[in-house]
Amino acid sequence: AQAALFQSQKMEAVGQLTGGVAHDFNNLLTIIVNNLDLLTRNAHDPRDIRLIESAQRAAERGAKLTQQLLAFSRRQPLQPNAHNPNTLIEGFETVLRRACGELIRLQLSLAPRVRWVSVDAPQFESALLNLVVNARDAMPDGGSLKIMTGNVTLEEKDAAATSLAPGQYVSIAVQDTGTGMSPDVVSRVFEPFFTTKEIGKGTGLGLSQVYGFVTQSGGHIKVDSTPGQGTKVTMLLPAQESEEDVPVEDEGSERPVRD
Ligand code: ADP
Repeated sequence: AQAALFQSQKMEAVGQLTGGVAHDFNNLLTIIVNNLDLLTRNAHDPRDIRLIESAQRAAERGAKLTQQLLAFSRRQPLQPNAHNPNTLIEGFETVLRRACGELIRLQLSLAPRVRWVSVDAPQFESALLNLVVNARDAMPDGGSLKIMTGNVTLEEKDAAATSLAPGQYVSIAVQDTGTGMSPDVVSRVFEPFFTTKEIGKGTGLGLSQVYGFVTQSGGHIKVDSTPGQGTKVTMLLPAQESEEDVPVEDEGSERPVRD
């Protein structure tokens, strides 16, 4: 518990620092992007146009990186709405399959009557895609990738380990049969810019974005990994307390009536 506390304090400090930098950087990029837009309107020489377009692409890439940093530091404004997580995942399945490529078998194992969660849908999809891309990268020769959902009840004793309040949660897990990670790597995966991928391949911001999204949504994220066997990343998100999400134990029973 002491180690977990230390870890979360460190993440908080790094988040404050990077959040401030990312925020200022984002303002500067906005000026660059706006001015480049004005320049393209007046440019006629194809060489100038090419140069401007190349600068625009670089600025867009910079904007994407700052978005991920803002997400990590929880400065990204979220617009949460009630969603059935299974529906979100199924709606995003085509993109996820395309990201997996030919060599990876993607399986969805979605719990029936899963509770609803309150999340920003595009941020949820972005987090899921980051997890799937990492899983794919860990299986260069192919393998299997499973996305699972489930209802979870956190008891007092489990809640302490996650720094969450006891109660009802939904778990969304991404499991691969890839390279796995050493405990050393696991302890650093959420740090912004921590990557073991080659330069140009990884930014080290994928899991930082996921971490920011999950904590800002009131949840918890956990990584279980065995070198040579694979990795499972689990997001725990608070379940909604509304009528739709109350799992009906028995198909025949009446749903609660609300006026
Ligand atoms: P990036 O993917 O750009 O490196 P991430 O923050 O998404 O940044 O991941 C950080 C590091 O965590 C990766 O470089 C990799 O070493 C490790 N990692 C993340 N997910 C997995 C996975 N599913 N299997 C093995 N290693 C992983």
